[in-house]
Amino acid sequence: MADYNKIEKVQLHVPSLEELRDVLQAGLEEDFAEVQVSVVECPDLTQEPFNFPVKGLCGSPRITDVGGVPYLIPLAHKHKEYDMNTVAQKLELPGAFILGAAAGPSGVLGMNSELVPLVQTESEGKPAINSSYFSTINPADGQCLLEKFSDKHSGCNFGLLGNLYACEGKTGKVLEMRVKRRTGSNSLVATMRKTLQDHYPDQSLALGGTSIVQKGKFKIHIMPREFSACPLHTDAEVNKWLQFFEVDAPLICQSVLVSRDPGLDLRVEHTHCFSHHGIAGHCYIDTTPDIVEYLGYYLPAEFVYRIDRPEITHVVGRN
Ligand code: ZN
Repeated sequence: MADYNKIEKVQLHVPSLEELRDVLQAGLEEDFAEVQVSVVECPDLTQEPFNFPVKGLCGSPRITDVGGVPYLIPLAHKHKEYDMNTVAQKLELPGAFILGAAAGPSGVLGMNSELVPLVQTESEGKPAINSSYFSTINPADGQCLLEKFSDKHSGCNFGLLGNLYACEGKTGKVLEMRVKRRTGSNSLVATMRKTLQDHYPDQSLALGGTSIVQKGKFKIHIMPREFSACPLHTDAEVNKWLQFFEVDAPLICQSVLVSRDPGLDLRVEHTHCFSHHGIAGHCYIDTTPDIVEYLGYYLPAEFVYRIDRPEITHVVGRN
């Protein structure tokens, strides 16, 4: 069972958006050929290609790390299932809009899957709007099968682990990243994270948000529908179990990143993407650095909440 009473809360460092713009502009320029970081009004995220249930990323931004990889491997703790509505309450933001990266709830879907959470949680008198996607490997052809979560289940459950950004879903000022052609070896999200880690050596910062991979191809993985029957003890064993794909842009990627773990055993970076051409999964990095283009919107989080932290932990499978 989910243990929502196991909860820790840490305040994060939140510089001004103007300061973050300058820091990220300088950091990204080292790894990308063209970089334009700006402070802008958040675009209307109810529009294409996002189609989110709320307009913006603003209002009481916070992140949470729920459960963790130790509930997936070496062997899956299938009873670990969570509800976005309850998570929103635990984040002291009932009715929050939640996005990020999580595992699908195998108990209600009947199989393991990659979940792309996009949920406006329930609030007094208003039911939740669940616009999440999940993906599995289609047994018919071994390829990605993308489905709308609400077509399969009326709830807002997820399983095992989740790295989530929550806010009031309001419009307001956000950081916009326009980035083209990768010259470094790290992904956009990893470069943002390392930039913040280097610039703020004594503080923890977190960003959450969404970015569109506009051009190129991207490496993703999808977990098999069946959990591994034999224990997975190393990254090599995990990578043998996962299925990897190289998929085409455009992709809409939801990310949560933390510059430094303030001692909560966090997954410091986690991104899941969806598309309008049948693809969703766990993101690594573009495989076409010469032509890749990104357009992203992010906001710094004020707090991190650690929910149901595994007591037995390890660092396997956190890529
Ligand atoms: Zn993932």
